[in-house]
Amino acid sequence: MLATPPVAQKLNVVPFVSVDHMMKLVLSVGIERFLTELSGVVEDDFRRWEHFDKTPRVAAHSPDGVIELMPTSDGAAYSFKYVNGHPKNTRSGLQTVTAFGVLADVESGYPVLLTEMTILTALRTAATSAVAAKHLAARGARTMAIIGNGAQAEFQALAFKALLGIDRLRLYDIDPTASEKCRRNLAGFGFEITLCGSTEEAVQGAEIITTVTADKQYATILTDNLVGAGVHINAVGGDCPGKTELHADILHRAAIFVEYPPQTRIEGEIQQLAPDHPVTELWQVIAGQAEGRRDPSQITLFDSVGFATEDFSALRYVRSKLAGTAFFEELDLVADPDEPRDLFGMLLRAQHA
Ligand code: NAD
Repeated sequence: MLATPPVAQKLNVVPFVSVDHMMKLVLSVGIERFLTELSGVVEDDFRRWEHFDKTPRVAAHSPDGVIELMPTSDGAAYSFKYVNGHPKNTRSGLQTVTAFGVLADVESGYPVLLTEMTILTALRTAATSAVAAKHLAARGARTMAIIGNGAQAEFQALAFKALLGIDRLRLYDIDPTASEKCRRNLAGFGFEITLCGSTEEAVQGAEIITTVTADKQYATILTDNLVGAGVHINAVGGDCPGKTELHADILHRAAIFVEYPPQTRIEGEIQQLAPDHPVTELWQVIAGQAEGRRDPSQITLFDSVGFATEDFSALRYVRSKLAGTAFFEELDLVADPDEPRDLFGMLLRAQHA
C-alpha cells in the first residue's frame, strides 16, 4: 500500500496539480521511472481487486463523443475521473481525450487531491497496457507495431520499453504527419523506429500490436489475416459502444483479457461478441488465480477500455510524490467556517471583511 502523507497543512486546503505542475512532476521523476513506478501501483491495486467498489463508468453519449465519470473506492480512499472522448476534436485543434480527477478521504469525505488527468490518463493507460503485456506477451518480445500515432502513442511506446524492453517500433497512422511527430518525439529514447505506409507493413515481424486509433465507429484497423501466431494485441482505441478496432474474427481466435467485464462488454472489442463469450479478468492473472499466455503460439488480446481503479492508482501515486515538492498549489476548495454549523455566518462576515 502506498503511504499517503498529508500534502497541504489544513484539510480544507486541497492540493491542486495543474497541467504545468504535472509536466514538471513527471519530468523531475523521469518519464520511464514514472511509468515503471506507476505500473507497480496499478499492478498492486489489481492484485487487491476484491477490495474495490466497482461499477461500469457513467457515460453521456452525444453524436460526436462521450463524457464519462469513473468512480471507485477501496474503503479508505475514493476517487473519480471526469474524461471525454471526441475523435473529431483534433480537426479543430482540440484533443480527443481530456480529463481531471479527484482523490478523497473516505472517513471525512474531504477531497485530498484535485489534478489534471489528461497527461496522467495517457501515463496510466500506457502503464496498464504494459502491465497486461508483461503477463501476456511472448517472452523476449522486442518489436511493437503502433497503429494510430496520436496523443497516446509515445506514452505506450515508453511504457513498453520500461516494462518489457521493447526497443523496435513500427509506426502507422492514416495521417503520416502523426507518425513523423511520434518519431521526432521518441528520438533519443533508444528506439529503432520504422515508419510504415500501411497497417499490413507495420505488423510485419511485430510480436506486439498496439491499436490506438480514434474514430467513433465500428472500424476495422486490424483484420484476421494480419495477426500471426504468438502475437499479443494491445487494443486501446476501441473503448465506447459502437467504437471498435478489431475484426470480429480475431476475437474468435484470441484468448481475451479484460479489466472489468460489465464495463468491457459494453465498451470494448468484445461488444461484437455474444454476451457470454469467455474472457479472463486481468486481475486474476496478476493475482495468480488464472492462467495468462498458455503457449508461444497463442494469440493474446488485452481489450483495454480503461477502468476506474487505474485512475485511483494514478491519483494515489501522484499524491505520494507531492509532499516536499513545489509541484502543486493549495486550493481554497472546501469551506471552513470557524464553527462548522455557522456557514451562513461565515458568508456574512466576508461581506464586512
Ligand atoms: P488522437 O486523436 O490523438 O490520435 C488518434 C490517431 O489515430 C490519429 O493520429 C489518427 O490519425 C489515427 N487514426 C484514426 N483512424 C486510423 C486508422 N484507420 N488507421 C491508422 N490510424 C488512424 O487520440 P488519442 O488520445 O491518441 O486516443 C486514441 C484512442 O485511444 C481514442 O479512441 C481514445 O478514446 C482511446 N483511449 C483509450 C484509453 C483506454 O484506457 N483504453 C485511454 C485513453 C484513450
